[in-house]
Amino acid sequence: MRMIFIGPPGAGKGTQAARLVNQFTIPHISTGDMFRAAVKAGTPMGQEADRYMKAGQLVPDEVTIGLVRERFAEPDTQAGFMLDGFPRTVPQAEALAEALKTDGVNLDVVLLLEVPDELIVERIIGRRSDPETGAIYHLTFNPPPAEIADRLVHRKDDTEDAVRSRLEAYHKMTAPIIPFYESLGLLKRVNGVGTPDEVTAAINEALK
Ligand code: ADP
Ligand code: ADP
Repeated sequence: MRMIFIGPPGAGKGTQAARLVNQFTIPHISTGDMFRAAVKAGTPMGQEADRYMKAGQLVPDEVTIGLVRERFAEPDTQAGFMLDGFPRTVPQAEALAEALKTDGVNLDVVLLLEVPDELIVERIIGRRSDPETGAIYHLTFNPPPAEIADRLVHRKDDTEDAVRSRLEAYHKMTAPIIPFYESLGLLKRVNGVGTPDEVTAAINEALK
C-alpha cells in the first residue's frame, strides 16, 4: 500500500497515520518528524530547517525533496509507505511522481483530511507529544495520563502566530496539489471533524 495523507496542520494526520500503519504494516514517513529529529541532532540541515519551522513557513523544496529521496532509498519502503506531510507543494508532488516512475510503482490512494480553519487553532494550541513513545495528545480532546504529564512536549511552532502562517502556507502552497491528485483519480476526501474513532471509521470507509 502506497498512500499519502494531506490536510491542514492539526487536521489529525499524525494521529490517524499512526493507527493506519499498524493496520497495513508499512512505514510511517512524516517529514515533520524527520525535520524535528534533524533539529534535535543539530545537523546543518536541521539548523536550516529550524529557521523555517519556527516561523511556520515551509522548508525549501530542494531540502525537503532531498530528505525524502534519502528516506526512500531505505529498503523498508519497498513494502509501501504512508507519507504524512509530504508532498506539500506542487514541485514536491512532481518530484514524488518522478521518483515513483523511476521505481516503476504507483500510488494507491491520497487521503485528504478536511477540517475547517476555525477548528485548527484550538487543536494545535492544545497539542502535546510524548518524546518517549511519539504518542500525540490533546489537553482537552485526548488528555494524556497524569503520570507522563511532566515529560510532554509542546512544539515551539504550535503557537497561535505560527499556526496562522502555517494555515496560510497550506492554502497557498499545499492546496494546489489537491486538483493534481484529483485529476489522477487518486484523491479521497475524508471528514476530519468528529472523534478520532469516527475519523478512523471514515478513513476505512474511504479505503474500501
Ligand atoms: P503539521 O502539524 O503542520 O502537520 P508537521 O509536523 O507535518 O506539522 O510539519 C512541521 C513543519 O515542518 C512545517 O510547518 C514545515 O516547516 C516543515 N515541513 C514538514 N513537512 C514539510 C514539507 N513537505 N515541505 C516543507 N516543509 C515541511
Ligand atoms: P497533524 O498531524 O495533522 O498536524 P495531529 O494528529 O498531530 O495533526 O493532531 C493535532 C492535534 O489535534 C493533536 O493534539 C491531536 O491529539 C488532536 N486531534 C487529532 N484528531 C482529533 C480529532 N478527531 N478531534 C479532536 N482532536 C483531535
